[in-house]
Amino acid sequence: MEKVVIIGTGCAGLTAAIYTARSNLSPLVLTGTMPGGLLTTTSIVENFPGFPEGVDGYELMLRMQQQAEKFGARIKVLQTVESVDLSQRPFKIMVDGELVETQTLIIATGAGHRHIGLKSEHLLEKKGVTYCATCDGAWPMFRNQPLVVVGGGDSACEEATYLTRFASEVYLVHRRDTLRASKIMAARALTHPKIKPIWNSVVADIHDVQKDKVTGVTLRDVNTGVETLLPCAGVFVAIGHVPNTHIFKGMLAMNGDGYILPQNGTETSIPGVFVAGDCSDHVYRQAITAAGMGCSAAIDADRYLAGLNQ
Ligand code: NAP
Repeated sequence: MEKVVIIGTGCAGLTAAIYTARSNLSPLVLTGTMPGGLLTTTSIVENFPGFPEGVDGYELMLRMQQQAEKFGARIKVLQTVESVDLSQRPFKIMVDGELVETQTLIIATGAGHRHIGLKSEHLLEKKGVTYCATCDGAWPMFRNQPLVVVGGGDSACEEATYLTRFASEVYLVHRRDTLRASKIMAARALTHPKIKPIWNSVVADIHDVQKDKVTGVTLRDVNTGVETLLPCAGVFVAIGHVPNTHIFKGMLAMNGDGYILPQNGTETSIPGVFVAGDCSDHVYRQAITAAGMGCSAAIDADRYLAGLNQ
C-alpha cells in the first residue's frame, strides 16, 4: 500500500515528489511516456526564477528528478497508467499490468499538443508535420526551405524564431490579426527578417499525402474564405494544448475542455485525490505556477494523510 502516488513528472509532479519525499512519504512517481513532461522539448527556459542566464528545459527537469530521488522518491520511468478506480479506498491504479493501491493520489498529468484536426495533418505527422521545433527543426529536410508555423501564442513565436536558424523563411500563420503571445516574444518574432506573418488565416489542408511528405499548405482567409497555396517543406503546429485527463473522465469534476477543477487549493471532487499543473490550470500554464501547485498538492496530501491517522 502506497501513501502517495504521483502521476506525471513535469514541473508539478516532480515538485510534488520533492515535497512528499521530504515529508518521508516515499512517493511512487509514474512518468508516463514523456518523463520530464513538455518542458523537456523546449530549448532555453528564460523565466524560471533563479536562472538569470536561462536554463535548458531538459536539464531543469533532470535536476528536479535528481532532487526528488535524493529525498527518497521512487520514480518509475516510462510506466503508463492504464486505468484508475477512485470509487473505493484505497484507490486502485493499473500500471503496465500491475495493480498499485494508494491512500492518496496526486494527478499531474499535464497537457499534450493540440492538433489542427486535418486528416492530412495526421497522415503527414513526422513526415514534415511536427509539434516541436526544438525536437525536429534541425532535420535535413527543413534546411534552407520555407517552413510554416501555425499559431499566435508564445509557443508559435518561440518556434518561429528558433526555426529561422534552419529555414529560408518562416511563415507564421495566425487566425487573427493580433498575436496572443507576450510582447517580448511577439516583438522578437515580428522583427525577425526571416519571419513573415500571415494574418486572419488558417491551414485548411496539408500537401502532399500522395508523396508522403510536406510540399505545401492550403491557406484559407477566415474573412473572405479565399484559399491560396503556399509551398513549404514543414508545418510546425503550435496552437496550444489539451489536458491529459481522459482516464479520469466521469470520475472527477472537470470543465468542458477536460481540465480538472481544483477546489480548496488542490483538492478534487474526491477527497484524497489532488491535482496540480497544466492538467488543471488553463489560465497561467507556466513552469513556475505548475511547480507551485505541485508544492501545494504535496502539502495538501500530507495534511490529508495526517488527518487519516488521527
Ligand atoms: P496559447 O497561448 O493558448 O496560444 C495558442 C494559439 O493558437 C493562439 O494564438 C490561438 O489563437 C491559436 N489557436 C488555438 N486553436 C487553434 C486552431 N484550432 N486553429 C488555429 N489556431 C488556433 O498556447 P501556447 O502558445 O502554447 O502557450 C501556452 C502557455 O505557455 C502560455 O501561457 C505561454 O505564455 C506559455 N509559454 C511560454 C513560453 C516562454 O516563456 N518561453 C514559451 C511557450 C509557451 P487565438 O489567439 O485566436 O486564441
